[in-house]
Amino acid sequence: MVIPVYNEEAGLDALIARVIPAAEAIFADRFELVLINDGSKDASWDVICKHAERDPRIVAMNLSRNHGHQLALTAGLNHVRGQLVFVLDADLQDPPELLGPMLEQLRKGYDVVYGQRSKRHGETAFKRGTASLFYRMLGSMVDTHIPRDTGDFRLMTRRVVDQLNAMPERYRFIRGLVSFVGFNQIAFPYERDPRFAGETNYPVRKMIALAVDAVTSFSTVPLRFASHLGMVFGLAGLVSLIGIVWVWMQGGTVEGWASLAALILIMGSVQLLVLGVFGEYLGRMYMEAKQRPLFIIAEVRRHPVSLDARQS
Ligand code: UDP
Ligand code: MG
Repeated sequence: MVIPVYNEEAGLDALIARVIPAAEAIFADRFELVLINDGSKDASWDVICKHAERDPRIVAMNLSRNHGHQLALTAGLNHVRGQLVFVLDADLQDPPELLGPMLEQLRKGYDVVYGQRSKRHGETAFKRGTASLFYRMLGSMVDTHIPRDTGDFRLMTRRVVDQLNAMPERYRFIRGLVSFVGFNQIAFPYERDPRFAGETNYPVRKMIALAVDAVTSFSTVPLRFASHLGMVFGLAGLVSLIGIVWVWMQGGTVEGWASLAALILIMGSVQLLVLGVFGEYLGRMYMEAKQRPLFIIAEVRRHPVSLDARQS
């Protein structure tokens, strides 16, 4: 199991108290829980260490600073060793008890069972509205089918996780990458609970960043906006030119300054907009080209009795 943790001090005890029994019920001792502390500013790391000392099945992993949810999760996926990998959030919005039913689905011949939110308790209308708009927009731009209303809550087989780990890209929209991997995937509808404690770590700014990551890493459609816009404005120009010539042939003249100023402003902003979109892709290429590590680990605390020893 992999759980990224950022400022979740208040809810961690409750989380572990629910996750461990849920896994124990199915796998007895043959599992590990990787908790990734993503540079929390509160005492999350101490709480994680406290539990890791007590329970050899808990692996405590500390990143050198805050890397963001998707990279923290990537770090965890790189370190977890199980044949099946269960990903959930630290705030108990995804019920850990669903591991059993999801595993049952997986055993029917699937490689990924992803949680799909049928109801979202305790989330604002704004969050639900923007999420739905986002998935619709993404769907219209992307070839890979990315199911809507999903998070990173899912159960995956080893071969899927290995494929994810083999993808070197920096701007990671993990639920999209999982869709990209393919094999047999199935949705698992569930009701998303409200956050157990603390506050959401996804303010509007981070939501937009995630959306831009998703679009730019799965689609080049925005790059084509330039040519579409060009055609639209070209056509509009042609029509107005014909109009001007027509008026001139009638012996009149078209009034100038206001319309000219408006045209210059519109064209100027359209060009800057298109440049901005190009810049977004170019910047990402630049960052990817540097090949910096995706995450930096400060420390991993794994109990000396390893999973393999316990299994034998
Ligand atoms: N998280 C993280 N690093 C961050 C932000 C969030 O590891 O920079 C973790 C957080 O602890 C939680 C998960 O990502 O386990 C999802 O975050 P959150 O619950 O705040 O998002 P929401 O459910 O509101 O979309
Ligand atoms: Mg949450």
